[in-house]
Amino acid sequence: MTKRFDGKLAVVTGASRGIGYQVAKGLAKEGAHVIAIARTVGGLEDLDDEIQAMGGSMTLVPLDLMDFDAIDRLGASIYERWGKLDMMVGNAGLLGILSPIGHIDPKDFEEVMAVNVTANYRLLRSLDPLLRTADAGRAVFVSSGAAHKCKPYWGIYSVSKAALETLVRTYAGETATTGDVRANLINPGPMRTAMRAKAMPGEYPEVLPHPSELVAPILDMLEPGFDETGKLYDFPTRELRSFPAA
Ligand code: NDP
Repeated sequence: MTKRFDGKLAVVTGASRGIGYQVAKGLAKEGAHVIAIARTVGGLEDLDDEIQAMGGSMTLVPLDLMDFDAIDRLGASIYERWGKLDMMVGNAGLLGILSPIGHIDPKDFEEVMAVNVTANYRLLRSLDPLLRTADAGRAVFVSSGAAHKCKPYWGIYSVSKAALETLVRTYAGETATTGDVRANLINPGPMRTAMRAKAMPGEYPEVLPHPSELVAPILDMLEPGFDETGKLYDFPTRELRSFPAA
């Protein structure tokens, strides 16, 4: 039986647990070969076991996204082996610490900006030619409601997600009229993951949606037939939102 993403290649960052793990599994279930990126080898191996058990395939890439040269090498390796990239999911992210702006350690600020923003810029820089070579390159990046709330003490994370949204919207504008690449964002809302537990330690996780619930909307945005670009899918309201025109 033909599957939705048979013969397609996808990069998923942050695939060792949480949202990225579920999305990688969902893509492989639909026939895509997944290049799964994270630092935790055990998490990637668990994913590989699950994907193999369902007859799918993936390539494990243990990689620290703060190693920007390694991101360049990733693009070169994909080019040499496959010559193109159909889909990318920029999901890896860090919460950092919750703190008043004036008390944030510069190291903490820089680390969150490096993973949530700079790594995604470096991924686009490295993978853009491969997405453009595919028939219908699709990219989805995972943002957060924090990008717009400017909640006290959430400064590092909020700034990083606002910057990520600007990065992706700009890239979407640049690709909208020069080929078939489409780039969009998703706001998951609160999800039952390690990051959420760190942010809200008193919360009972079972009341939150499981990250597998995000698989369907993310896969829909990765379809060649999904022609929107520069939009944000807000999972809590199930709305595809446009950003206000400048
Ligand atoms: P988790 O903490 O469960 O997973 C984060 C993933 O990012 C892990 O796979 C982790 O892998 C990876 N990662 C972090 N730092 C690096 C790094 N330096 N190099 C490579 N990989 C890295 O979080 P979630 O699944 O909850 O978060 C996924 C995305 O969803 C994030 O962008 C987050 O901001 C966003 N989000 C989550 C919400 C929620 O409620 N959970 C709400 C709104 C947005 P490893 O540690 O193995 O490297």
